[in-house]
Amino acid sequence: MELDMFHEVDFEDVKISVKASNVMLMINAYRLASETFDNPLHLGVTEAGPLPSGMIKTTAGIATLLAEGIGDTIRYSLTADPVEEAKAGRILLESMGLRKRKSVDLIACPSCGRAEVDVIAIARAAEAELARRSIPLQVAVMGCVVNGPGEARGADLGIAAGRHRGHLFIRGKIVRVVPEDEMVEALVDEAEKLMAEGVEARLAAADAEAALLAEQDSRAARSY
Ligand code: SF4
Repeated sequence: MELDMFHEVDFEDVKISVKASNVMLMINAYRLASETFDNPLHLGVTEAGPLPSGMIKTTAGIATLLAEGIGDTIRYSLTADPVEEAKAGRILLESMGLRKRKSVDLIACPSCGRAEVDVIAIARAAEAELARRSIPLQVAVMGCVVNGPGEARGADLGIAAGRHRGHLFIRGKIVRVVPEDEMVEALVDEAEKLMAEGVEARLAAADAEAALLAEQDSRAARSY
């Protein structure tokens, strides 16, 4: 086979790729390749297509194999701007803990009848601003103060929408209450301070009145 031709000339730096455009065929081919060869494997779903289907197919194939410990390098082959391909690969590796986070991990609630702001717009604006500054924190954007801080307690930093104001929290603890139209700006400002000063310093600098204001909003929100 072709691999023997490389061995014959003592060329051992060979990486193998068995890409396919069918996701299950690709997964099974790489599983077989990992059992058959010792060579590193380059993963990809070839000709995956445009967004969002190409992104979903590629992520399904590559993530399944990486979770099984199969694969050494990856490639998103999307019918899209190559910048999107590189971004998708970075996000996948960071999400799976296979690469040190260099950019924001923005989590946001799906929004529901309790939401007091446009969660989608705020989450998108916050993600863009934090990514532009390469802030590697997990940041939560939540639509209400009833469940927001509690559900996002694990996030480094977050904001939940109260009665026309935003509750800024660090690891689930309220540190500031800001006007609704300043939510994104306040989130970015606190993220930069958190990076510079650390969690303990920012919790110590919390606004003394914030917890009381937040409790008032939470009570009001629960009553309707
Ligand atoms: S955090 Fe609030 S607005 Fe968002 S989904 Fe949960 S209950 Fe709904």
